[in-house]
Amino acid sequence: MKRREFLVGAAISATAAWAAPLRAVLAQDAVKRKTRLILLGTKGGPRVGGEGRKNPSTLLLINGVPYVVDCGYGTSQHLVRAGVPLNSVRNFFITHHHSDHNLEYGSVIYNGWATGLRTRVDAWGPPGLEKMTRAFFDYMQFDIDTRMDDEGRPDLRKLVFAHDFDKPGLVMQNEDVKVTAARVRHPPIEHAYAFRFDTADRSIVISGDTNYSPELIELARDADVLVHEILYMPGLEKLLSRVPNAAKLKEHIVASHTVPEDVGRVAAAAGVKTVVLTHFVPGDDPSITDEQWAEGVRKHFGGRIVVGKDLMEI
Ligand SMILES: [Zn+2]
Ligand SMILES: [Zn+2]
Repeated sequence: MKRREFLVGAAISATAAWAAPLRAVLAQDAVKRKTRLILLGTKGGPRVGGEGRKNPSTLLLINGVPYVVDCGYGTSQHLVRAGVPLNSVRNFFITHHHSDHNLEYGSVIYNGWATGLRTRVDAWGPPGLEKMTRAFFDYMQFDIDTRMDDEGRPDLRKLVFAHDFDKPGLVMQNEDVKVTAARVRHPPIEHAYAFRFDTADRSIVISGDTNYSPELIELARDADVLVHEILYMPGLEKLLSRVPNAAKLKEHIVASHTVPEDVGRVAAAAGVKTVVLTHFVPGDDPSITDEQWAEGVRKHFGGRIVVGKDLMEI
């Protein structure tokens, strides 16, 4: 019995020792072959959930380079869990300035610097991003100055380049990817955008927060994957029964998010192959099943429907 336990223990440790480099090689191989899409956080709304979904963030790995769309609370932790070193992220995109999409923007970049970032980082977002970036550095001034002096780190403020944009169209382009934006319907926010990433092997659209939006249909035309937010009304009613500002909050949520039937209509009208549901509202009610999230979408969309989960790769 004792010997068997020993063998089991040895087998496990040997597996761990040789499997890590093997996994790295396999991952590198996968990176070469394709654009990868990983959901980091899928819970809509600013409230921090419990054990379930983290707040919204989506990762694309394009030829091994990470691109992060939105930085809700929990993004740093789930980047690490996805195996992406924080100091390797070079490109950030913010869809709009609700806190469930930008609360950890500065912190993710900072956490990259704390783990050895020494090269340039770029970030694109609606008006206000440049100011937020400066404000974050003011907030962290003491720590940044201290660590530069004390630990010999480079000046983080000189590594980060934020770019405000205020209209739809081309956001950025390099040899690996072209990123375009459409303005979507997320009142009262004027500057709310969806992003489309076109790479050599895939086209991926991320809706951001929006109600039914013809502009999003245009942006997503014939895309391989549409990552779309979703609002489940029966779940919302239950959520609202617990909060004091229910009437006002319901008015906002219904006007600015998309019910499953409309997600299906958008996906069908755009002609996408796959729709991936994310930004679940409510995002922390385990009584809502995957089938309940998907069934309204399926009424109008005959393609593949993926009910997203944190750290799921599509
Ligand atoms: Zn949101
Ligand atoms: Zn929003």
